[in-house]
Amino acid sequence: MPANTDFNPVVVSPYHDEPAAMTGQELMAANPYRPWPARITSITELTATEKLFEFRLIDERIREAFRHEPGQFVELTIFGVGEAPISISSSPSKRGFIELCVRRAGRFTEALHKMQCGDIVGIRGPFGRGFPFEEMKGHDILLVAGGLGIAPLRSLINNIHDERSDFGKVTIIYGSKNPSEVMFRNQFEMWRHRKDFDLYLTVDNPDDTWDGEVGLVTKPFEHLEISPANTFGAVCGPPVMYRFVVAEMRKKGISYDHIYMSFERHMKCGMGKCGHCQIGHQYCCIDGPVFNYWEAKNIQGSM
Ligand SMILES: Cc1cc2nc3c(=O)[nH]c(=O)nc-3n(C[C@H](O)[C@H](O)[C@H](O)COP(=O)(O)OP(=O)(O)OC[C@H]3O[C@@H](n4cnc5c(N)ncnc54)[C@H](O)[C@@H]3O)c2cc1C
Repeated sequence: MPANTDFNPVVVSPYHDEPAAMTGQELMAANPYRPWPARITSITELTATEKLFEFRLIDERIREAFRHEPGQFVELTIFGVGEAPISISSSPSKRGFIELCVRRAGRFTEALHKMQCGDIVGIRGPFGRGFPFEEMKGHDILLVAGGLGIAPLRSLINNIHDERSDFGKVTIIYGSKNPSEVMFRNQFEMWRHRKDFDLYLTVDNPDDTWDGEVGLVTKPFEHLEISPANTFGAVCGPPVMYRFVVAEMRKKGISYDHIYMSFERHMKCGMGKCGHCQIGHQYCCIDGPVFNYWEAKNIQGSM
């Protein structure tokens, strides 16, 4: 079905109460619990269980004002169904739309997967602390993603791509269980041939079609050459992965201060109010979801 590009806020917005003179920033700040209507403008099937959705916020003021950092998330509402935190998968350098890569996991994500181009959802945010993009500039970058962990890291990867001259050597390791679970295949296929990205795709269980590496996401570390003093590491994947990837990064000599990782914890409000994602003295939604090694070490069960 072709994307519906007819954005008419009068028809679809249930909100008519705000003064027309308010800016998008003022509107969003006035009530951060309010989901802003957004239209699905594109849906791409990535695997049997993951889809990439592109959304456009309908109110032009909100669309203009929406800015995010790589690693941040939004709270996505399906009216009548519920709300869920989802990482922003598109680069902050691409404005006007938001991409979310969503795995079909349960009731909410099932309902999203049934939606069509043109359907309306609600978006509030962005929330949380992302990767320290400005601090990373001028350094080499080693990105390690496992499975769905590629969703938030893709925002960082694409942002680095768009500002490539600000970074040194960029190495990407992306591991999946099976070839059929590799997401963004076309994008990675293109990058495989580029000299300014070192790309390693690994799968645990290869089939006849697979010509990449075989083994866990830590396997490419065996032949990785990096300049540890100048390298930032960024990690996102299933909980079991972090301990092993961080150990490999340490073996290569990367400083703990330069290792960042993104965590998912059950969360609701996204603003440190409800306490659902509180771990010790930290709120995952505002202190994270991206933490550096020292912060992550204090999060129970994560390292
Ligand atoms: C910061 C953050 C970023 C996220 N980014 C993405 C993303 O980019 N893509 C994506 O597909 N999913 C992401 N998730 C997970 C997503 O929020 C859950 O998959 C979703 O809420 C499941 O809802 P459901 O009703 O479909 O499934 P449910 O039946 O409620 O649960 C299915 C599975 O999802 C887990 N889950 C349920 N609610 C949450 C929650 N609030 N937070 C984390 N896990 C949950 C459950 O433990 C269970 O394993 C993210 C979660 C967080 C906290």
